[in-house]
Amino acid sequence: MTLFDTHAHCDDKRYELEYEGGTDKLISDCLENGISNIINIGTCLENSKASIELAHKFENVYASCGIHPSDVLTYENVDEVMRELEELLRDEKAVAIGEIGLDYHYEDIPKEPQMIYFERQMSLAQKLNIPVIIHDREAHGDCLDMVKKFPKVKGVFHSFSGSPEMALELVKLGWYISFSGTVTFKNARVPKEACKVVPEDRLLVETDSPYLSPTPHRGEINMPSYVFFTAEEIARQRETTTEHIAKITKENAKRLFNLNNFVF
Ligand SMILES: [Zn+2]
Repeated sequence: MTLFDTHAHCDDKRYELEYEGGTDKLISDCLENGISNIINIGTCLENSKASIELAHKFENVYASCGIHPSDVLTYENVDEVMRELEELLRDEKAVAIGEIGLDYHYEDIPKEPQMIYFERQMSLAQKLNIPVIIHDREAHGDCLDMVKKFPKVKGVFHSFSGSPEMALELVKLGWYISFSGTVTFKNARVPKEACKVVPEDRLLVETDSPYLSPTPHRGEINMPSYVFFTAEEIARQRETTTEHIAKITKENAKRLFNLNNFVF
């Protein structure tokens, strides 16, 4: 059995400091230990470029490129950023725009610039006909409204934290739902309920490494191979096998991110 980690930040500086051998060793260890594929996620122009470089080093690693809501104040000219982003997305291993969205947890980034970048990147996704990866932290209503504004754009809500009802609404709109290590947390009643209602053909798994380490590794640095614990918990909730979750989530990732041309 192997699993597809659809959301990891393997180029994060923490791996150079805390993982012997750094990012490259981390990825090759994970690919040898139960991980079939990884999508490495960009959050700004700089690490979107790094993501593409990583994807070219490893056949089974793909890149997403995008501006995270927490990074929007780094830039002065949104038009210029969109031009550079579009340039990066021409790369054959750039498979999605992400992560983009809204984060209302910290109040130091005003909503307005977050909205501007979110909307511009949604319209870029529409123009390029490429899937998006959405970060929605404490912004469920506004994220749903944005998705509804772009009915042609499809993608995934990563590390889903909404209700089962919201999951079903997104599914109806054609979206995928991805669960991270948070579903393994003992008190995570809502994600545990939500992962039960998502139809088989819309479910994805991820780690969000180096963040959100699953039980029994909470407090440690996360890594793609720990996606196993998330798949195992989802299997428990859905009363099926981890092998089955591995199989369907891999097929779903392949379909959503148009990976048919790649070796699997
Ligand atoms: Zn992330």
